[in-house]
Amino acid sequence: MKSPSSLDPDDWQTLRAQGHRMLDDMLDYLEHIRSRPVWQPIPQEVRADFQLPLPQYPADLAAVHETFMREVLPYAVGNAHPGFMGWVHGGGTPVGMLAEMLAAGLNANLGGREQMPVEVERQVLQWVRELFHFPASASGLFVTGTSIANLIAVWVARTQALGIEVRQTGMAARPLRLSAYTSAGAHGCIAQAMDLAGVGIDALRIIPMNAAFEMDLAALQRAIAADRTAGFAPFFIAGTAGSVDVGAIDDLSALAEVAERENIWFHIDGAYGALAMLSSELAPRLLGIERADSIAFDFHKWGQVPYDAGFILVRDGELHHDTFAAPAAYLKRETRGMAAGSPWPCDFGPDLSRGFRALKTWFTIKTYGAEKLGATIANTCALAQYMRQRIAAAPQLELLAPVSLNIVCFRYRCVDADRVNADIVVALQESGIVAPSSTTVHGCLAIRAAIVNHRTTQENIDALLRETLALGEKLRARQND
Ligand SMILES: *Cc1c(COP(=O)(O)O)cnc(C)c1O
Repeated sequence: MKSPSSLDPDDWQTLRAQGHRMLDDMLDYLEHIRSRPVWQPIPQEVRADFQLPLPQYPADLAAVHETFMREVLPYAVGNAHPGFMGWVHGGGTPVGMLAEMLAAGLNANLGGREQMPVEVERQVLQWVRELFHFPASASGLFVTGTSIANLIAVWVARTQALGIEVRQTGMAARPLRLSAYTSAGAHGCIAQAMDLAGVGIDALRIIPMNAAFEMDLAALQRAIAADRTAGFAPFFIAGTAGSVDVGAIDDLSALAEVAERENIWFHIDGAYGALAMLSSELAPRLLGIERADSIAFDFHKWGQVPYDAGFILVRDGELHHDTFAAPAAYLKRETRGMAAGSPWPCDFGPDLSRGFRALKTWFTIKTYGAEKLGATIANTCALAQYMRQRIAAAPQLELLAPVSLNIVCFRYRCVDADRVNADIVVALQESGIVAPSSTTVHGCLAIRAAIVNHRTTQENIDALLRETLALGEKLRARQND
């Protein structure tokens, strides 16, 4: 019999019908996304509806859903839309969405214990090892995103450098002063990871880039040598596979070489770029990735898995385990029963309760297959090359960085170009047609198009360039008034 305080419905029939409507609404959203605006500004009254006091009494699920459809869904950032090219956002898929529904229904806690959901995560780990040519002893874990995956890598490297006792004594008790290295093109979360791991942002040496926006190897070696002379202990090199500004890939083989020779942990931030390994055409560009000590990447970017689905892969599974595992009576392991199956995912990171991110990833890889996902990734790079060619053919436009992968940085040529191009980006976003973001390249404000979404086509690229030219013309005419 149902408890009077249970949250289950009295009438499953009504809930079932409502559930089917909600499912249909989201499938409609995805099926017809191309005819919607990418993004639209949030009206004041809509925002105000989300500043209400705590509701004390029940509301009809249908009514709550209606509010979602009217006030939330239309005002999302729009990364599912093929015209979305801002930052580096994945598009998601209907398959991933359906898998999320199954995961939510099961409500599994992936901290550990003897259960098939943990085996699903281990299956994905096995595929990840295979993809990056890592040994069976390598460990891995789903996390929120690459920001946290990078942090976990720093923690494990810190254990390597200072010994397991650092967990007990803390950094202050250790006499070694650590130093770390990354490129000027690296993501800001590398510095943040130094901060959060207690190493400190000052320990991170920012190595300049060469003309191809890759870490300058000679400068790296000079920095390491200078640090050794000054009594520092170099412990961490973070290479980037797919830089956030321009999509550059560091020379990973050369970095592996330096790290090996200097006995320094070699980490790769491959947030979106690492999954280029899924494309036989692009994989050779990542040569050297198989030599990393750890790789951080996201399934939610190029992998098209719905947010969030970050991943950390660590070559030395034992060291990874020892960095996080902790004894606790209530987490005691057994060889039989529900407390079997040790080590558990919670032994490899700071989270104890964890959602079933593995399921939407497993469904995505199972359903589409590695080859198709790789072809989707390669296609975004082909679109970027198409865009590069069209920019080269337009005298009013200027390319600002080489197009290595799927990111194109360009601008409209005019006087006061920074301000005009910033205005163009905002106007493009507000147009609802296409949505790039901006960045700074060589001190110039760039319109930045990151083509990540599997739905994006040449038509969207054409629309971006057409609208940029029209807006540029209009803004320049206004300058001359
Ligand atoms: C997106 C990105 C990150 C951050 O990843 P999150 O999943 O957003 O935490 C780090 N590095 C690079 C190169 C990125 O593109």
